[in-house]
Amino acid sequence: MKYDLVIVGAGPAGIFTALELLRKGSKKKMVIIEKGQPIGRRRCPKGTTGRCVNCRPYCHITTGFAGAGAFSDGKLSLSHEVGGQLPELIGIDAAQSLIDYTDAIYLEFGADTQVEGMVVDERIKRIRRRAITAGLRLVDCPIRHMGTEKAQEIYGAIQTYLTDKGVEIRFGVNCADLILTDHECWGVVVEKPDGTGREEILAQDTVVATGRRGADWLEKICQEHGIAHQPGTVDIGVRVEVRNEVMEEVNDALYEGKFVGYPAPFRDKVRTFCQNPGGFVSQENYDNDLAVVNGHSYKDLKSENTNLSLLSSHNFNTPFNQPIAYAQKVGELTNMLANGHILVQRFGDILDGKRTWERELSRSNVKPTLKDAVAGDITAAMPYRAMTNIIAFIQALDMVVPGFASPETLLYSPELKFYSNRVRMDAQLNTNIKGFYSLGDSSGWTRGLMMASAMGVMLGDKLAAEEQK
Ligand SMILES: Cc1cc2nc3c(=O)[nH]c(=O)nc-3n(C[C@H](O)[C@H](O)[C@H](O)COP(=O)(O)OP(=O)(O)OC[C@H]3O[C@@H](n4cnc5c(N)ncnc54)[C@H](O)[C@@H]3O)c2cc1C
Repeated sequence: MKYDLVIVGAGPAGIFTALELLRKGSKKKMVIIEKGQPIGRRRCPKGTTGRCVNCRPYCHITTGFAGAGAFSDGKLSLSHEVGGQLPELIGIDAAQSLIDYTDAIYLEFGADTQVEGMVVDERIKRIRRRAITAGLRLVDCPIRHMGTEKAQEIYGAIQTYLTDKGVEIRFGVNCADLILTDHECWGVVVEKPDGTGREEILAQDTVVATGRRGADWLEKICQEHGIAHQPGTVDIGVRVEVRNEVMEEVNDALYEGKFVGYPAPFRDKVRTFCQNPGGFVSQENYDNDLAVVNGHSYKDLKSENTNLSLLSSHNFNTPFNQPIAYAQKVGELTNMLANGHILVQRFGDILDGKRTWERELSRSNVKPTLKDAVAGDITAAMPYRAMTNIIAFIQALDMVVPGFASPETLLYSPELKFYSNRVRMDAQLNTNIKGFYSLGDSSGWTRGLMMASAMGVMLGDKLAAEEQK
């Protein structure tokens, strides 16, 4: 079957490529290959079972139309400083205007018009003053918060728009390989999740946007086919959960406070990420059975807690250059200690050198929102360097947010971000393979909804311009 364009992965990066092409009047015959389900058929059974049942053949939280965006908190970071390294590739001004343009598309599809963190008022100045004293940087980043339920509505409207305009979306189909000869890509090989029904889909251009969960698959594909790439950064950390009262000032003033520090003695970059006021800690499962922690919040349904991720960045080059594999080992070890689940430990117990017990959790002010997390000892699996960074960062953040380093603060593990294999490309997104493009989190250049969507818009615009020549 011959198409003009095949897009692998219906996450924000993939769908915004198709969307922008249509908006620019493209007549291309397009097909999107997505291993998951349409947005209306994505169901996480945890709502009824109360615990993760490790869905097969894939996790509905990260797989299906809108990718990891569908059940995300739907926070659109409107600054080029947040969400990935695209500005390094295309320049800061180009990245910012791309984000503004993409934000307008989200608004057209119904995103909330309110933006948090736009005005630097007295409260924000106070927070920044304390951050400076603590040796941390407060990053300015306006946020448009869609919320999980609204995000699903917006992505649902985009799915309808694409299909109404003739984009074919093949759900429940897995891309197994690329078809490549002499540094030119001719399409993809697809199959059903059980490995049957192999089929070739030929296309003039191929876009791979398989997200974080497709990052290790893409790394293998890059090695096999000589697609130029380089190891990037891997983030290892914890998801922290505290009572809303502790985070109230930052939640109210900023919704999401983005803090960055380089704590002694290692001076690695440590940062906060994905803050969810009144939110819920969640679990996502990768195909290789790895269970990792995440978090999200609804627009209306609120918990008594705020959760956020603390991530410590690590780089590797010689003699070891497989950051994804490294982080996976950390995750596997943590899962093993929690019997396949997420581990949770109180910060005070980490400092006291003891594990946390279930009964101790029930005595605290802060009750875990991830009900099937297992109380234990995350330090038994966390590398010394990452743990040291995290402890130092929490203690610094306590100067900005009093109570953050309280003994009962909860730390969930493993919190891992796999976006490390960076596909080499030029500022026009051309790779060393003709007709092959790599976008979004799996490309290693983005790590958030807005930047992944914006990268998709950029490619859609480029392909539309070439079509009109
Ligand atoms: C619980 C959660 C909350 C989050 N909250 C936020 C937030 O509030 N703000 C923010 O900016 N970011 C958030 N993120 C991150 C954000 O969702 C991602 O950065 C973003 O979705 C990346 O988009 P993408 O298109 O690159 O990849 P993805 O959204 O991961 O989409 C990739 C798609 O490709 C499909 N796929 C993978 N491999 C194959 C294959 N071989 N064949 C066929 N299909 C394949 C997958 O099924 C998936 O649908 C959150 C993520 C999670 C999991």
